Amino acid sequence: MLDTKNVLNWLNDFANEIQKNKTYLTDLDTPIGDGDHGNNMNRGVIAMQAELAKALPNSVSEIFRITAMALMGNIGGASGPLYGSAFMEMAKAAKETDELPLIIQAGLNGILKRGKAACGEKTMVDVWTPVCESLLSKQLTQQIIDIAVESTKSMIATKGRASYLGERSIGHLDPGSVSSGYLFSSMLRNIQ
Ligand code: ADP
Ligand code: MG
Ligand code: MG
Repeated sequence: MLDTKNVLNWLNDFANEIQKNKTYLTDLDTPIGDGDHGNNMNRGVIAMQAELAKALPNSVSEIFRITAMALMGNIGGASGPLYGSAFMEMAKAAKETDELPLIIQAGLNGILKRGKAACGEKTMVDVWTPVCESLLSKQLTQQIIDIAVESTKSMIATKGRASYLGERSIGHLDPGSVSSGYLFSSMLRNIQ
């Protein structure tokens, strides 16, 4: 069940993971993108932490709304509006329910609506979708997250910058899937 305390712990843990892995995320985005995903995400989570600390939000929905605004306004690139849409839809859902699977499902729908990617196109959708399905059936584990992230390696990108490479995108992890993997690992550690 979500409450303001465990959600703030989750998002701070996510911010720490991004900061720790900033160079790795950028390295992943170099062969199949423009080498900015680590810096993009880092800017976003720093702004998110500052805004959350300043606002002292008193509901889970408000935490997600502030997060959405900070990520949308500071990540940039393709992933900024996608993470922003996810958290904005999560903020709306959190007004109606405190069930994590339903909230993540709303987030995924926000990404799908904004980015129009389907599963198998080597985007963060390839992590959000199996995570959401496993949460709905109460079976999410770290291993499922790891397998989902790893599955993007053998895919051909057909959305986003990596799609310019066509078959040459095979053999590389999708950077947005790796950052989404951090989001969900942090979630598993902090939300019971
Ligand atoms: P940019 O590609 O504009 O430099 P980033 O490097 O920050 O932006 O983010 C790239 C990530 O965004 C990709 O690794 C992928 O996961 C995600 N992405 C790109 N396009 C889409 C899309 N249409 N739908 C879902 N995710 C996408
Ligand atoms: Mg990039
Ligand atoms: Mg870019």
